[in-house]
Amino acid sequence: MAKITQIKLSISNCYLLQGDRNILIDTGNPNEAQKIIAALAKQGLTLQDISLILHTHGHADHCGSTQELLHTHKIPTAIHVADRFMSDQGTNGEIKTKGITAFLVKPFINKPYPAFVADLIIDEEINLHEFGVDAKIQFTPGHTQGSISIVTDRNEAIIGDLLMGGILGGRFFSDRPDYHYFMDSIEQVDQSIRKMLNFRADTFFVGHGGPLKRKAIEAKFPIN
Ligand SMILES: [Zn+2]
Ligand SMILES: [Zn+2]
Repeated sequence: MAKITQIKLSISNCYLLQGDRNILIDTGNPNEAQKIIAALAKQGLTLQDISLILHTHGHADHCGSTQELLHTHKIPTAIHVADRFMSDQGTNGEIKTKGITAFLVKPFINKPYPAFVADLIIDEEINLHEFGVDAKIQFTPGHTQGSISIVTDRNEAIIGDLLMGGILGGRFFSDRPDYHYFMDSIEQVDQSIRKMLNFRADTFFVGHGGPLKRKAIEAKFPIN
């Protein structure tokens, strides 16, 4: 079993994935550890109950508070091998922007964050069974080269920044799927969207806004 709980942070979502044990997916921007700890407490959990902090990719708004959480309690951390340099250095790497909005918001987002050394470097699509959750990692590059998604046994998926919901970080129309403002490769993003639609998932949880329904994604990104 794997139950997903969305935790809304300042500009991004992180997620609690609950099974026999619990995985935290992403940690938001820097200085959001207390918000995450408070959200865990609502579920009756503390950091001691977290078996893994898994990052969908290496950007500051998804890895930003990991180091702060680790100060409070040591938890294994994981990131894809291609985004490892970001968490090692606390950097976003090169950010390629799409459109004028992206150009305008880039200076606010492209900030360094407290670096950390990940314990588990993901180089294959592993099952999360050993961390107590019925879910599997899928590689979904495009937003960054090391972007990953998670598919659960409940026909749900967490896809990070592969897509986003709504505009201005999901403040409006949060159930409307669209490309993220930043994409390393739009061709890879399209391929990764196809790949994720091939799973039976009905609900797709994203890094900003959402969740997104399968039908809405299929309408926006028709197969042809
Ligand atoms: Zn991102
Ligand atoms: Zn993001």
